[in-house]
Amino acid sequence: MQQNLPQLPVITLEKLTALIASWGVPNYRAKQVLQWRNRGILNPADMLNIPEELRERLSSSLVCEPLKLVQRQCSSDGTRKYLFMLTSGRLKGKMVESVYIPEEKRGTVCISSQVGCVLDCPFCHTGTQDFEGNLSSGEIIAQVLAVKHDLLKEPLAAELNASVTHVVYMGMGEPLANEEGVHESLSSLTDPDGLKLSKRRITLSTSGLVPQIDRLGEVASVNLAISLHAAENRLRDALVPINRKYPLQELRQCLNRYSLGKQRHITLEYVMLDGINDRPEDVELLAGFVNLDRERVNLISFNTYPGSSYTGSSKQHMNEFAKQLISKGIRATVRRSRGQDIMAACGQLKAGNRAENRES
Ligand code: SAH
Ligand code: SF4
Repeated sequence: MQQNLPQLPVITLEKLTALIASWGVPNYRAKQVLQWRNRGILNPADMLNIPEELRERLSSSLVCEPLKLVQRQCSSDGTRKYLFMLTSGRLKGKMVESVYIPEEKRGTVCISSQVGCVLDCPFCHTGTQDFEGNLSSGEIIAQVLAVKHDLLKEPLAAELNASVTHVVYMGMGEPLANEEGVHESLSSLTDPDGLKLSKRRITLSTSGLVPQIDRLGEVASVNLAISLHAAENRLRDALVPINRKYPLQELRQCLNRYSLGKQRHITLEYVMLDGINDRPEDVELLAGFVNLDRERVNLISFNTYPGSSYTGSSKQHMNEFAKQLISKGIRATVRRSRGQDIMAACGQLKAGNRAENRES
């Protein structure tokens, strides 16, 4: 069955070498194939220095292209949002979205880990979508590779960074509810024969699944972002329902255990909802929760979407809130939202949503 075939986006050099050796092909060809793969070229037909016969064998023996680009939207700020269709396995025909965010000195790909999400945070657009399933590691990494391919084919304006220097697991889904796919994808991202990204350049955002955060710390202590959004249980139970299972005191202890390298910190994400979690007492509650030595607070403006029942706090109020946190010794920043004109910002990803500004 096709889903049992090895996936080109994540196959290791060792495995590919062994596979082609069993076909009588010399080892150096495996390196060549992975060089193409790591640049985002997944179709063996495009691997120019590979003999025809090997290209055909690769096509029939591996899942080479687990994603098909269906739509790309470009924001006026350079952000690109991609809609991909899964081409094989259980989720064949389902859609996922990824976003590329270029900045002067970095290029970040925001990737999805699931189709939909079971966790139902009431302010999140993805949470309103039915949960369909977990992505495989190949499907997760293929998002990064497809973005690389697109940037090769169609570079950005010269002043923007057109490479992939950072990866964030902040797209559709709860990454730690897909441990198998996500752990494997992390080892592929950091593989010296793969994308060779330092774990300092990878950030995983989670709504706070405590045992899974502990396991992540053991297998791949990448940067951690926690969707906090409230610092008292009553309010967090409503905004981030997984809090009922893993309340703040358990999360607190878990974050204190998470292994951090030098000069690294945990980010506490806090989406600011007018009149809900932006009250004066929320400053006090946050100050009581944050571990000043290890954590920063990132205030996120609420990105609205059709049918949403929340209103975001005003820019001015967010800045004021940040100032008050800072006066209490908390390192707080206000996140600039990117790609809003194409609904590519946090919590707006929902496959199948064909917003305006359509391209290609
Ligand atoms: N499921 C994971 C990762 C994906 S969501 C998580 O919840 O952390 C990435 C971030 O966007 C999370 O902090 C999430 O809470 C936030 N988010 C969700 N909906 C949002 C919205 N409408 N506006 C702003 N941020 C939102
Ligand atoms: Fe799922 Fe994260 Fe959205 Fe909550 S915020 S519904 S955990 S994707």
